[in-house]
Amino acid sequence: MLNIILFGPPGAGKGTQSEKLILKYKLVHLSTGDIFRANIKGETALGKLARNFMDNGQLVPDEVTISMLEQEVNKNPNAKGFIFDGFPRTKAQAEALDKLLKSINTSITMMLALEVKEEELKKRLLLRGKESGRPDDQNPLIIQKRIDVYNNETAPVKNHYSAQKKYIGVKGIGAIEEIFNALCDAIDRKLGLKKPEKKKGAVKKVAPKKVTVKKAPVKKSTKKAIKKVAKKTAKKVVKKTVKKTAAKKGTKKVIKKVVKKVSVKKATKKNVGKHAKKIVKKVLPKIIKKSTKKVVAKKKKK
Ligand code: AMP
Repeated sequence: MLNIILFGPPGAGKGTQSEKLILKYKLVHLSTGDIFRANIKGETALGKLARNFMDNGQLVPDEVTISMLEQEVNKNPNAKGFIFDGFPRTKAQAEALDKLLKSINTSITMMLALEVKEEELKKRLLLRGKESGRPDDQNPLIIQKRIDVYNNETAPVKNHYSAQKKYIGVKGIGAIEEIFNALCDAIDRKLGLKKPEKKKGAVKKVAPKKVTVKKAPVKKSTKKAIKKVAKKTAKKVVKKTVKKTAAKKGTKKVIKKVVKKVSVKKATKKNVGKHAKKIVKKVLPKIIKKSTKKVVAKKKKK
């Protein structure tokens, strides 16, 4: 069964929207206000009792209202579902409704609440009073009293169904058709006939993009200049290292020659350490040996 509570303050448009919803979803409309008015018209005992409360903008006592609603539900054993309009209006009524529906193996599907600001409600009610002649819609004091009763006694019923995750608020201002569509959307989503609405402010999660920072292109001329400076520095380091090693080895005489002959052409900024070591280890001893031989030979000749 599809059981909807159409909730909202007096003048929110519950009656108008209920009439449209019952046609679309083939539901039974139960409006406690309408039932009381029909009883007043029929001059029944219930009507006489309810009239005093209604004319003063007060709620008809719970026991009376609950038992009346129970009878109406039981009159419709083959209903596909109900739209409860103007009921429950107190926490006691909400608890009684849950119990009643449980006894016939069903429950409230959702509470749809029409949200309308107070000023708009007052305007609408006075207009309706003029058009329909409803006495409780014609007196601004009674209208205010009904709005106060709603705020104090009825509005807290929202918490009862929010706790059951069944409360859905719908904007009750705009064209009748527009509001009707919003209500249908909410029902269809609940029934799984439509995709759930995206939450306000929800941001679709997107995998963070890899940020590749492109290096600013370096001009050819700048590259050349950098290479030149690097090479110069590398050569200097290699020469220094070689000189130092040669001096340590006690061959001061050949140092100049050695340094001249030592290949520092291949020295670069990157390989400077390695290159210097290589020269000191492999090249330098050979050159020293050679040079020393030459020096000795020259001396012998002399
Ligand atoms: P309505 O047509 O829903 O605005 O109701 C008109 C009047 O009927 C209300 O101001 C109450 O006096 C009475 N009434 C309707 N429904 C209830 C209810 N569930 N509980 C108590 N009084 C109700």
